[in-house]
Amino acid sequence: RPRKRFGQNFLVDPGIIQRLVDTIAPRPGDNLVEIGPGQGALTEPLLAACPDLQAIELDRDLIPLLLARFDDYAGFRIHRCDALTFDFSELVTAGPDRRALRIVGNLPYNISTPLIFHLLSFGQYVRDMHFMLQKEVVARLCAQPGQKAYGRLGIMVQYHCQVENLFPVPPQSFRPAPKVDSAIVRLTPYAEPPVVAKDVGALQRLVNTAFQQRRKTLRNALRSLLPVEVIEKLEIDTSIRPENLTLPDFVRLSDSLAEHNPAAIPTPTHTTKHTTKHTTKHTTKLQRTQ
Ligand code: SAM
Repeated sequence: RPRKRFGQNFLVDPGIIQRLVDTIAPRPGDNLVEIGPGQGALTEPLLAACPDLQAIELDRDLIPLLLARFDDYAGFRIHRCDALTFDFSELVTAGPDRRALRIVGNLPYNISTPLIFHLLSFGQYVRDMHFMLQKEVVARLCAQPGQKAYGRLGIMVQYHCQVENLFPVPPQSFRPAPKVDSAIVRLTPYAEPPVVAKDVGALQRLVNTAFQQRRKTLRNALRSLLPVEVIEKLEIDTSIRPENLTLPDFVRLSDSLAEHNPAAIPTPTHTTKHTTKHTTKHTTKLQRTQ
Protein backbone atom coordinates (compact mmCIF):
# COMPACT_ATOMS: atom_id res chain seq x y z
CA ARG A 1 0.00 0.00 0.00
CA PRO A 2 1.42 3.43 -0.98
CA ARG A 3 2.83 5.40 1.95
CA LYS A 4 2.05 9.04 2.30
CA ARG A 5 5.09 9.90 4.38
CA PHE A 6 7.39 8.74 1.57
CA GLY A 7 5.42 10.79 -0.97
CA GLN A 8 4.31 7.64 -2.75
CA ASN A 9 2.07 8.18 -5.76
CA PHE A 10 2.72 5.30 -8.11
CA LEU A 11 2.45 5.75 -11.87
CA VAL A 12 -0.29 3.55 -13.31
CA ASP A 13 -0.91 5.10 -16.74
CA PRO A 14 0.85 2.99 -19.41
CA GLY A 15 0.54 5.80 -21.98
CA ILE A 16 2.36 8.29 -19.74
CA ILE A 17 5.00 5.73 -18.76
CA GLN A 18 5.68 4.99 -22.44
CA ARG A 19 5.80 8.66 -23.35
CA LEU A 20 8.25 9.38 -20.56
CA VAL A 21 10.52 6.46 -21.52
CA ASP A 22 10.37 7.50 -25.21
CA THR A 23 11.36 11.02 -24.15
CA ILE A 24 14.29 9.80 -22.07
CA ALA A 25 15.29 7.41 -24.89
CA PRO A 26 17.66 5.25 -22.82
CA ARG A 27 20.30 3.31 -24.76
CA PRO A 28 22.54 0.39 -23.82
CA GLY A 29 25.69 1.90 -22.34
CA ASP A 30 23.84 4.70 -20.52
CA ASN A 31 24.43 4.99 -16.80
CA LEU A 32 20.84 5.29 -15.55
CA VAL A 33 19.97 6.34 -12.02
CA GLU A 34 16.39 6.19 -10.81
CA ILE A 35 15.43 8.09 -7.68
CA GLY A 36 12.49 6.46 -5.87
CA PRO A 37 11.65 3.44 -8.06
CA GLY A 38 8.61 2.61 -5.89
CA GLN A 39 7.16 -0.63 -7.23
CA GLY A 40 9.12 -0.34 -10.46
CA ALA A 41 6.58 1.15 -12.87
CA LEU A 42 9.32 3.13 -14.65
CA THR A 43 12.18 0.86 -13.72
CA GLU A 44 10.89 -1.99 -15.87
CA PRO A 45 10.74 -0.20 -19.25
CA LEU A 46 13.98 1.65 -18.44
CA LEU A 47 15.79 -1.63 -17.72
CA ALA A 48 14.36 -3.17 -20.88
CA ALA A 49 16.10 -0.42 -22.88
CA CYS A 50 19.28 -0.11 -20.83
CA PRO A 51 20.63 -2.90 -18.61
CA ASP A 52 22.61 -0.66 -16.23
CA LEU A 53 20.31 1.00 -13.74
CA GLN A 54 21.02 2.00 -10.17
CA ALA A 55 18.03 2.85 -8.02
CA ILE A 56 17.93 4.86 -4.81
CA GLU A 57 14.99 4.03 -2.59
CA LEU A 58 14.33 5.09 1.00
CA ASP A 59 11.44 2.77 1.82
CA ARG A 60 13.05 -0.47 3.00
CA ASP A 61 9.83 -2.45 2.55
CA LEU A 62 9.99 -1.94 -1.21
CA ILE A 63 13.51 -3.36 -1.58
CA PRO A 64 12.68 -7.12 -1.53
CA LEU A 65 9.84 -6.55 -3.96
CA LEU A 66 12.11 -4.69 -6.38
CA LEU A 67 14.91 -7.24 -6.07
CA ALA A 68 12.50 -10.08 -6.82
CA ARG A 69 10.91 -8.25 -9.72
CA PHE A 70 14.21 -7.42 -11.43
CA ASP A 71 16.18 -10.48 -10.41
CA ASP A 72 16.95 -11.28 -14.05
CA TYR A 73 18.77 -8.00 -14.64
CA ALA A 74 22.42 -8.33 -13.63
CA GLY A 75 22.98 -4.60 -14.09
CA PHE A 76 20.25 -3.59 -11.62
CA ARG A 77 21.40 -2.35 -8.21
CA ILE A 78 19.54 -0.73 -5.35
CA HIS A 79 20.97 1.68 -2.82
CA ARG A 80 18.69 1.89 0.19
CA CYS A 81 19.38 5.51 0.99
CA ASP A 82 17.96 8.95 1.36
CA ALA A 83 18.46 10.67 -2.01
CA LEU A 84 18.66 14.02 -0.17
CA THR A 85 22.02 13.11 1.36
CA PHE A 86 23.26 10.58 -1.20
CA ASP A 87 26.65 11.15 -2.81
CA PHE A 88 25.76 10.81 -6.50
CA SER A 89 29.39 11.06 -7.57
CA GLU A 90 29.81 7.48 -6.33
CA LEU A 91 27.60 6.23 -9.15
CA VAL A 92 29.84 7.45 -11.92
CA THR A 93 31.57 4.55 -13.61
CA ALA A 94 35.31 4.76 -14.06
CA GLY A 95 36.30 5.88 -17.51
CA PRO A 96 36.73 8.95 -19.63
CA ASP A 97 33.06 10.02 -19.65
CA ARG A 98 32.54 11.48 -16.22
CA ARG A 99 29.33 13.26 -17.18
CA ALA A 100 27.58 10.00 -17.69
CA LEU A 101 24.77 9.87 -15.13
CA ARG A 102 21.27 10.00 -16.57
CA ILE A 103 19.01 10.64 -13.60
CA VAL A 104 15.30 9.87 -13.69
CA GLY A 105 12.63 10.19 -11.04
CA ASN A 106 8.97 10.49 -10.36
CA LEU A 107 9.98 12.43 -7.29
CA PRO A 108 8.30 12.56 -3.90
CA TYR A 109 6.82 16.06 -4.11
CA ASN A 110 7.53 16.92 -0.47
CA ILE A 111 11.29 16.81 -1.07
CA SER A 112 11.60 17.86 -4.71
CA THR A 113 13.02 21.37 -4.15
CA PRO A 114 15.79 20.42 -1.68
CA LEU A 115 16.57 17.37 -3.82
CA ILE A 116 17.05 19.49 -6.94
CA PHE A 117 19.36 21.83 -5.00
CA HIS A 118 21.30 18.80 -3.77
CA LEU A 119 21.61 17.42 -7.32
CA LEU A 120 22.92 20.74 -8.66
CA SER A 121 26.11 20.14 -6.71
CA PHE A 122 26.72 16.98 -8.79
CA GLY A 123 26.17 18.68 -12.17
CA GLN A 124 29.64 17.76 -13.40
CA TYR A 125 28.75 14.04 -13.20
CA VAL A 126 25.36 14.33 -14.86
CA ARG A 127 24.37 14.16 -18.52
CA ASP A 128 20.70 14.88 -17.99
CA MET A 129 17.83 14.61 -15.49
CA HIS A 130 14.16 13.90 -16.20
CA PHE A 131 11.76 14.52 -13.37
CA MET A 132 8.07 14.26 -12.71
CA LEU A 133 7.20 17.23 -10.51
CA GLN A 134 4.28 19.22 -9.30
CA LYS A 135 3.27 21.53 -12.17
CA GLU A 136 3.93 24.64 -10.05
CA VAL A 137 7.50 23.51 -9.36
CA VAL A 138 8.09 23.07 -13.10
CA ALA A 139 6.72 26.60 -13.60
CA ARG A 140 9.24 27.88 -11.02
CA LEU A 141 12.09 26.03 -12.75
CA CYS A 142 11.27 27.62 -16.11
CA ALA A 143 10.22 31.08 -14.85
CA GLN A 144 11.60 34.21 -16.47
CA PRO A 145 12.04 37.69 -14.93
CA GLY A 146 8.74 39.43 -14.29
CA GLN A 147 6.81 36.20 -13.76
CA LYS A 148 5.30 35.40 -10.40
CA ALA A 149 7.04 32.01 -10.23
CA TYR A 150 10.49 33.59 -10.80
CA GLY A 151 12.76 33.16 -7.77
CA ARG A 152 15.56 31.31 -6.03
CA LEU A 153 14.86 27.85 -7.46
CA GLY A 154 14.53 28.95 -11.10
CA ILE A 155 17.56 31.24 -10.99
CA MET A 156 19.92 28.70 -9.44
CA VAL A 157 18.71 25.85 -11.69
CA GLN A 158 18.89 28.01 -14.82
CA TYR A 159 22.41 29.05 -13.84
CA HIS A 160 23.52 25.39 -13.88
CA CYS A 161 21.20 23.75 -16.40
CA GLN A 162 19.21 24.11 -19.56
CA VAL A 163 15.56 23.64 -18.51
CA GLU A 164 12.81 22.19 -20.71
CA ASN A 165 9.18 21.85 -19.70
CA LEU A 166 8.20 18.71 -21.62
CA PHE A 167 4.57 17.68 -21.00
CA PRO A 168 1.81 17.75 -18.38
CA VAL A 169 0.62 14.68 -16.48
CA PRO A 170 -2.89 14.58 -14.94
CA PRO A 171 -3.59 13.33 -11.38
CA GLN A 172 -5.42 10.24 -12.71
CA SER A 173 -2.12 8.85 -14.00
CA PHE A 174 -1.14 7.96 -10.40
CA ARG A 175 -2.38 5.76 -7.61
CA PRO A 176 -3.35 7.34 -5.30
CA ALA A 177 -4.14 10.41 -7.41
CA PRO A 178 -2.34 13.46 -6.01
CA LYS A 179 -4.28 16.66 -5.39
CA VAL A 180 -2.06 18.59 -7.81
CA ASP A 181 -1.26 18.54 -11.53
CA SER A 182 2.16 17.29 -12.55
CA ALA A 183 4.59 17.82 -15.42
CA ILE A 184 7.77 16.33 -16.81
CA VAL A 185 10.86 18.51 -16.93
CA ARG A 186 14.33 17.90 -18.39
CA LEU A 187 17.38 19.53 -16.79
CA THR A 188 20.64 19.35 -18.76
CA PRO A 189 23.69 20.64 -16.86
CA TYR A 190 25.78 22.97 -19.01
CA ALA A 191 29.25 21.84 -19.97
CA GLU A 192 29.94 25.53 -20.64
CA PRO A 193 27.47 27.74 -18.77
CA PRO A 194 26.33 30.81 -20.75
CA VAL A 195 27.17 33.07 -17.77
CA VAL A 196 29.80 32.22 -15.18
CA ALA A 197 29.87 33.65 -11.66
CA LYS A 198 33.25 34.15 -9.99
CA ASP A 199 31.85 32.39 -6.95
CA VAL A 200 28.66 30.30 -7.02
CA GLY A 201 28.40 30.66 -3.21
CA ALA A 202 28.18 34.42 -3.69
CA LEU A 203 25.43 34.00 -6.28
CA GLN A 204 23.50 31.69 -3.96
CA ARG A 205 23.86 34.13 -1.05
CA LEU A 206 22.80 37.08 -3.17
CA VAL A 207 19.74 35.34 -4.62
CA ASN A 208 18.68 34.03 -1.19
CA THR A 209 18.90 37.51 0.30
CA ALA A 210 17.18 39.20 -2.65
CA PHE A 211 14.15 36.90 -2.47
CA GLN A 212 13.78 36.91 1.30
CA GLN A 213 11.63 39.99 0.81
CA ARG A 214 10.55 39.86 -2.77
CA ARG A 215 8.34 42.94 -2.56
CA LYS A 216 11.23 45.22 -1.59
CA THR A 217 13.24 47.18 -4.13
CA LEU A 218 16.64 45.81 -5.02
CA ARG A 219 18.29 48.67 -3.12
CA ASN A 220 16.51 47.71 0.11
CA ALA A 221 16.55 43.97 -0.36
CA LEU A 222 20.34 43.95 -0.81
CA ARG A 223 21.15 46.69 1.69
CA SER A 224 22.79 44.26 4.13
CA LEU A 225 25.10 42.92 1.41
CA LEU A 226 26.04 45.68 -1.03
CA PRO A 227 26.17 49.50 -0.84
CA VAL A 228 23.77 51.10 -3.27
CA GLU A 229 26.63 52.92 -5.08
CA VAL A 230 28.21 49.58 -5.94
CA ILE A 231 24.95 48.36 -7.49
CA GLU A 232 24.49 51.63 -9.37
CA LYS A 233 28.02 51.43 -10.77
CA LEU A 234 26.92 48.26 -12.55
CA GLU A 235 24.15 50.33 -14.18
CA ILE A 236 21.52 48.17 -12.56
CA ASP A 237 18.32 50.02 -11.63
CA THR A 238 18.09 49.74 -7.84
CA SER A 239 14.43 50.76 -7.75
CA ILE A 240 13.19 47.55 -9.39
CA ARG A 241 12.21 44.43 -7.50
CA PRO A 242 14.46 41.36 -7.48
CA GLU A 243 11.80 39.47 -9.45
CA ASN A 244 12.56 41.70 -12.45
CA LEU A 245 16.29 41.13 -12.52
CA THR A 246 17.80 38.81 -15.16
CA LEU A 247 20.20 35.97 -14.38
CA PRO A 248 23.21 37.74 -16.01
CA ASP A 249 22.51 40.78 -13.77
CA PHE A 250 22.32 38.56 -10.67
CA VAL A 251 25.68 37.11 -11.71
CA ARG A 252 27.20 40.61 -12.13
CA LEU A 253 25.92 41.55 -8.68
CA SER A 254 27.32 38.38 -7.19
CA ASP A 255 30.74 39.13 -8.71
CA SER A 256 30.58 42.51 -6.98
CA LEU A 257 29.63 40.82 -3.74
CA ALA A 258 32.60 38.45 -4.06
CA GLU A 259 34.84 41.49 -4.59
CA HIS A 260 33.40 43.96 -2.03
CA ASN A 261 32.07 41.77 0.74
CA PRO A 262 33.70 38.32 0.66
CA ALA A 263 32.98 37.89 4.38
CA ALA A 264 29.26 37.60 3.51
CA ILE A 265 29.84 34.47 1.46
CA PRO A 266 29.48 31.21 3.36
CA THR A 267 32.33 28.77 2.94
CA PRO A 268 31.18 25.95 0.67
CA THR A 269 29.92 22.94 2.57
CA HIS A 270 29.04 19.83 0.71
CA THR A 271 25.52 18.71 1.52
CA THR A 272 26.44 15.05 1.27
CA LYS A 273 26.59 13.41 4.65
CA HIS A 274 27.06 9.79 3.66
CA THR A 275 30.53 8.44 3.32
CA THR A 276 31.51 5.84 0.76
CA LYS A 277 31.41 3.18 3.44
CA HIS A 278 27.88 4.03 4.41
CA THR A 279 26.61 3.88 0.86
CA THR A 280 28.18 0.58 -0.07
CA LYS A 281 26.74 -0.92 3.11
CA HIS A 282 23.31 -0.55 1.57
CA THR A 283 23.90 -1.87 -1.91
CA THR A 284 22.09 -4.82 -3.38
CA LYS A 285 24.65 -7.48 -2.48
CA LEU A 286 24.12 -7.03 1.24
CA GLN A 287 20.38 -6.78 0.84
CA ARG A 288 20.33 -10.06 -1.04
CA THR A 289 22.03 -11.93 1.78
CA GLN A 290 19.74 -10.59 4.49
N1 SAM B 1 8.84 5.65 -9.48
C1 SAM B 1 7.64 5.11 -8.86
C2 SAM B 1 6.46 5.31 -9.78
O1 SAM B 1 6.56 6.19 -10.66
O2 SAM B 1 5.46 4.60 -9.64
C3 SAM B 1 7.38 5.72 -7.47
C4 SAM B 1 7.25 7.21 -7.40
S1 SAM B 1 6.75 7.85 -5.83
C5 SAM B 1 6.09 9.41 -6.32
C6 SAM B 1 8.26 8.37 -5.03
C7 SAM B 1 9.22 7.26 -4.57
O3 SAM B 1 10.34 7.86 -3.91
C8 SAM B 1 8.63 6.28 -3.57
O4 SAM B 1 8.99 4.98 -3.94
C9 SAM B 1 9.28 6.67 -2.23
O5 SAM B 1 9.39 5.60 -1.32
C10 SAM B 1 10.63 7.16 -2.68
N2 SAM B 1 11.25 8.13 -1.78
C11 SAM B 1 10.66 9.01 -0.94
N3 SAM B 1 11.54 9.77 -0.29
C12 SAM B 1 12.76 9.37 -0.74
C13 SAM B 1 14.11 9.77 -0.44
N4 SAM B 1 14.35 10.74 0.42
N5 SAM B 1 15.12 9.14 -1.07
C14 SAM B 1 14.87 8.13 -1.97
N6 SAM B 1 13.64 7.73 -2.28
C15 SAM B 1 12.59 8.31 -1.69
